[in-house]
Amino acid sequence: MNTPLFNRVAFIGIGLIGSSLARAMTKHGLAGHIAISTRRAETLAKAEELALGQSYHLDAAEAVKDANLVMICTPMGAYEAVAKSIHDTLMPGAIVSDVGSVKASAIKDIKPHLPGGVHLVAGHPIAGTEHSGPEAGFAELFPGHWCILTPTEDTDTSATARVQDLWEAVGANVEIMTPDHHDRVLGITSHLPHLIAYTIVDTADQLEDDTKKEVIKFSASGFRDFTRIAASDPVMWRDIFLNNRDAVLEILGRFTEDLTAMKRAIRKGDADMLEKTFARTREIRRSIIDAKQHIPDVKPGEDNS
Ligand code: NAP
Repeated sequence: MNTPLFNRVAFIGIGLIGSSLARAMTKHGLAGHIAISTRRAETLAKAEELALGQSYHLDAAEAVKDANLVMICTPMGAYEAVAKSIHDTLMPGAIVSDVGSVKASAIKDIKPHLPGGVHLVAGHPIAGTEHSGPEAGFAELFPGHWCILTPTEDTDTSATARVQDLWEAVGANVEIMTPDHHDRVLGITSHLPHLIAYTIVDTADQLEDDTKKEVIKFSASGFRDFTRIAASDPVMWRDIFLNNRDAVLEILGRFTEDLTAMKRAIRKGDADMLEKTFARTREIRRSIIDAKQHIPDVKPGEDNS
């Protein structure tokens, strides 16, 4: 067993990501004690049944007492209230981190509510599935995936290094970038694709009944891949679009222009434009495979295609 990286870790929120990290920390012996806190009693009972930690609290303020690391793993809409609720019981020198999918707003919502001497190191593991809750997590979620940390200029470098050590110990590759850059990159790689998937599936849902039945029957022709993404957690994605509004609107503007150009090419029968675009995009897929980033986030033994 390794020497724990942290004597006491508090998780606030123990769904897919929180429970996966708690499981991975236990597997690798990275925490002396894991204190778990969540909003609803049923979820807390489930976490206890799954033995995800050593102590269980409905009160986040109680869970963070004496914690060297506090990991916020709730939907982003809860961040400000969570940060306010733990202000009085955070230990001096503690590190507060998170796993939220938008970073500038995470820092804006958490940082003003932390007492002096507590370090915020915001982070985002680029790993997940469309499932939610403590049962959905698994210790092997992170190996081979990126975790982006977004310290700001005044973040204590040794606190950042400790959070980096944690993510590397659970198998993730760590990249450091500014919060704004993170939000622009994820706007195109994750947020826009989710928005498109949600819209396509909703468009299909609005079709008349006969066609809708056939959409399901012939879904393997492309639609099915969108439905997996569009099955992602509604609250989490609501919060992502509300928190990354500027970056998403900017990339959506560019996407809409490109879509209009494709529409024009189809209307005019511009075969050359269509083929050249599709050939370029095929190269992107090849470079993702070369970078070994094409493996789907599927729980071992489970087919969620
Ligand atoms: P999840 O499975 O739905 O779990 C969310 C947890 O937060 C549950 O313990 C839930 O507790 C708690 N919670 C929900 N609303 C709350 C509130 N208003 N106040 C306090 N606690 C609340 O979510 P997840 O997929 O793990 O996502 C958590 C975070 O990870 C999000 O910020 C998301 O952006 C980020 N993330 C997700 C993915 C992904 O693929 N899912 C990937 C990377 C990052 P109760 O059940 O007790 O309400």
